[in-house]
Amino acid sequence: MKKVDHIGVAVKSIDNSLDYYIHTLGLSLLAIEEVASQGVRVAFLDAGNIKIELLEPLATDGPIAKFIEKRGEGVHHIAFGVTDIRTRMVELKEKGVQLLQEEPKPGAGGAEVAFLHPKSSFGVLYELCDKSGKGE
Ligand code: ZN
Repeated sequence: MKKVDHIGVAVKSIDNSLDYYIHTLGLSLLAIEEVASQGVRVAFLDAGNIKIELLEPLATDGPIAKFIEKRGEGVHHIAFGVTDIRTRMVELKEKGVQLLQEEPKPGAGGAEVAFLHPKSSFGVLYELCDKSGKGE
């Protein structure tokens, strides 16, 4: 893992929290997008060397909705930027890391993503985020 691409933050409403990020903290909005495969609407904010990804649940039974219900709004995951995500997944599995899925899933901005089980990562939900071929 060479760099952190973004930090995912679960919010009840992007519309209600954007004003804080843009006007209070002074970050600029990069994009808002629905990621149907993950049941979320996301907003990416530019925080200099990394991005902040706000995650708003689209349905009450999705993982983000459940996270907010259990733990409230807050930091949800940390995403490493990787290349060749399938190879990274195999390498991690060989090292005994439990992944939350077998195959990468489509993420925001055309990225391919996969998550590491927090039980394998000392309580942190880590994401692998591969944007190779997307100009980044
Ligand atoms: Zn993410």
